[in-house]
Amino acid sequence: LLINLIFPRTCSGCGHPGQYLCPRCHDSLTLKSIVYNPSTSLEGRLSLFRYHGHIKQIITDLKFNFTSDLIPEIVNLIAHSLVNRYPNLLRYWQDNDYTLTPIPLHSSRFNWRGFNQSELLAAALSPLLNLKYENILTRTKNTLPQTSIKDKRLRRANTVSSFQMINDKCLNPPAGRAGDKFILVDDVYTTGSTIRSAASAFPPNTHLWALTIAG
Ligand SMILES: [Zn+2]
Repeated sequence: LLINLIFPRTCSGCGHPGQYLCPRCHDSLTLKSIVYNPSTSLEGRLSLFRYHGHIKQIITDLKFNFTSDLIPEIVNLIAHSLVNRYPNLLRYWQDNDYTLTPIPLHSSRFNWRGFNQSELLAAALSPLLNLKYENILTRTKNTLPQTSIKDKRLRRANTVSSFQMINDKCLNPPAGRAGDKFILVDDVYTTGSTIRSAASAFPPNTHLWALTIAG
């Protein structure tokens, strides 16, 4: 409450007070659709909104302006969108026991920022979507923020082999881990290099989806 008095919330789209994204600006967002490709290691991905305008501003606020109090509002936006627009996909994930898992930040960036927005999103989405949550990946190499690299090839090289499964989960894999099903959660899907790199850290038979706010 106090924080609302000091920093009153305004819509990042139009400046209307009350919420980070007012209903009118919410309705103006460009919707995206499911990309399904079951023959690859990433069987499908869903970016809910096109990465431009209001959504781009919100993700920037979330990442760089230390506004972790944006999380509940974004989580509601994601859950609402999934429940209303992709009920079959959500049911598929629930029925097949998919687990939400965040794309991790490297610890040095985590220390600087103080939170990992993907982790906060995935953890808060778990009870709303009735999907399990597990933090399973770690980042092994510090990488520059993807948005700061303009060249696509450099951006790809920047994240190569930069993920692995968290150590104890590697050394004592629970039975059946290789056939497990995960949904990689991140804020934005740009070239896909981060998601592909994270996907390559899982055993070959893992079923993987990617869920991002925008793409
Ligand atoms: Zn607005």
